[in-house]
Amino acid sequence: METKSQEKFTFQAEITQLLDILVHSLYSSREIFLRELISNASDALDKLRIISLRGEEYHQKDIPFEIKISFDKESKLLMITDTGIGMTKDELVKNIGTIAKSGSSEFIKALKEGDSDAKEIIGRFGVGFYSVFMVANEVKIKTRSYLKDEQGYIWRSTGSGDFTITESEDSINRGTTIEIYLKDDALEYATKETLEGIIKKHSGFISYPIYLAAEKINTITALWKEPKNSITPEQYSEFYKFVSHDFEDPECHIHISVEGMVQFNALLFIPKKNFDFFGMNRDNYGLDLYVRKVLIQHQSKDLLPEFLSFVKGVVDSEDLPLNVSRETLQENAVFGKIAKQVTQKVLDDLIQRAKDDPEQYKRIYKEHGKQIKLGFNDHDNRSKYLELLRFDSLNNTDPEKLISFEDYKNNLKAEQKEIYFALGTMRESLAADPAIEIFKKKGIDVIFLYDPVDEYALSMVAKYGELDLVSVEKADISKLDSFIDVEENTNKLPELSTEDEKILDELAKKVKEVLGEKIKDVKISKRLSDHAVWLSGENEMFSASFRRMMKGSNPMFDSFGASKVMEINKDSAVIRNLLTIYKGDKDSPIVSRVVNVLYLSAELGSGDLKDPFILVKEMNSILETFTGNYTIIK
Ligand code: ADP
Repeated sequence: METKSQEKFTFQAEITQLLDILVHSLYSSREIFLRELISNASDALDKLRIISLRGEEYHQKDIPFEIKISFDKESKLLMITDTGIGMTKDELVKNIGTIAKSGSSEFIKALKEGDSDAKEIIGRFGVGFYSVFMVANEVKIKTRSYLKDEQGYIWRSTGSGDFTITESEDSINRGTTIEIYLKDDALEYATKETLEGIIKKHSGFISYPIYLAAEKINTITALWKEPKNSITPEQYSEFYKFVSHDFEDPECHIHISVEGMVQFNALLFIPKKNFDFFGMNRDNYGLDLYVRKVLIQHQSKDLLPEFLSFVKGVVDSEDLPLNVSRETLQENAVFGKIAKQVTQKVLDDLIQRAKDDPEQYKRIYKEHGKQIKLGFNDHDNRSKYLELLRFDSLNNTDPEKLISFEDYKNNLKAEQKEIYFALGTMRESLAADPAIEIFKKKGIDVIFLYDPVDEYALSMVAKYGELDLVSVEKADISKLDSFIDVEENTNKLPELSTEDEKILDELAKKVKEVLGEKIKDVKISKRLSDHAVWLSGENEMFSASFRRMMKGSNPMFDSFGASKVMEINKDSAVIRNLLTIYKGDKDSPIVSRVVNVLYLSAELGSGDLKDPFILVKEMNSILETFTGNYTIIK
């Protein structure tokens, strides 16, 4: 009788959707439900073990930490029992059914749209408990919290919209039992062979005994403690899948064994794909910390800096106390030393890997570069961080290849003391950017950045060794004077006379007058060779491209515009013609009309133009004049 004080609850909408998708679209991988339930059981035991290590009291101390699996094909029943922390009624309501994980809706959307990647990462996302409804008509959770004054509860649901919770009349042992009433097409999960196969395949590294129908079926191995040459690639791969919940093999492993002042073993992996799926898996990182083969902290965030958070795995040390909390760990000097060494080992491994196997490093960078790049504020690891970065560049002819700062440095011009970079949306637009004309002309390489974060990072870092990192927009062009042109300007106009130079200055003033508040100043450009004009963001912390790309996402940059400086190229035909017109008639309306169009087209070029119709209108009016003149001449 379970009618006593029964309460009914409705699943949160996201959970109902997730259930629906799980049941209908993941048929072929439905055996993972068992892995998910065993992994929950193991987590519940880990949590209790940590409580116990701290010396706290808990219910039924005499019951061992273990997982039991039993089945009965006749009654189509499968049961998974753990003696972990269990759940109170509030925890049952909250954990199972009413609070979906953050990011669930994005994930569900991707699944619905048939994104195959999403299917692959379903395990990483941790659909967890709900996957049981792939094989169940009905599920009961019988649970009793480790807290002394609690009692047992029974949760039940058919997975369609709602669930009930009842206080249990019978006494329940500490921990949780999941009772699964199997669907008719899932009866194989009530046979020993199938269950044993799945457990060995997916749950081989669980560190508690798993009993299947009274027989212990797992041997508990701490793979990280085994000598490297005794471990097969398959074992590494299986262990990786166990710690990461990934379906795929890892890209590579890093097996570390350190003896000395501090001693520890670590078995770390670099996943093939980044886990930060849709940016919603933010907290799902960190290495598992063991002390003498006992897990004391799951996903420790303090062993590696955040920019290496894509690395998965475990660290085990003999030198730490078993009963430590996160807070005392952070203050523990030995832990600090271990963290430092683990970090150095990972950085060194990556740097070496890039040298030994550039193809592999390229794959790693493509997948995890977004995180690696964020290491710019880690001052302790600055120099190694800089070795890890890769970029596209102006002189890089192979779009598949990326260059390092070291590569850039190896191709410096004699006397070049700066590394130049430019930010833009893509290679083509950067290559046509007026701001890099002069670098092209001099054959100086420019690092191409495609994400405002990159410019931010490089501005913060500011230096690579002795070399300053400088945005092309803000580079002091006079420093380039001594470099010889590699591109000959074939239609170079004759030099201006001193007289004309003076009138040019007047013309510049006129341009400022015409454009008024739209720009801060007008300058005669030293950098342009083809383009007639260019809008620069001089004297600003960040480049104009940066502010343009940030506009919209950050209101701080919305006012961008008023600080632009218009550079004019005195060696372009348009400016020379304007000069001639201006000399003939200082108040010629043609000057202001052309200046306006030049300004608007520079805005168009930089992606800043708000209203294209203004440009179109001005252009048409100029074309009208031009064609009109032509007919008259004819
Ligand atoms: P995840 O395990 O990835 O957090 P689940 O949906 O599998 O997601 O489980 C949700 C929560 O329910 C868990 O985080 C845990 O708090 C609780 N839970 C699930 N299974 C158990 C169990 N066997 N014992 C105790 N708590 C559990």
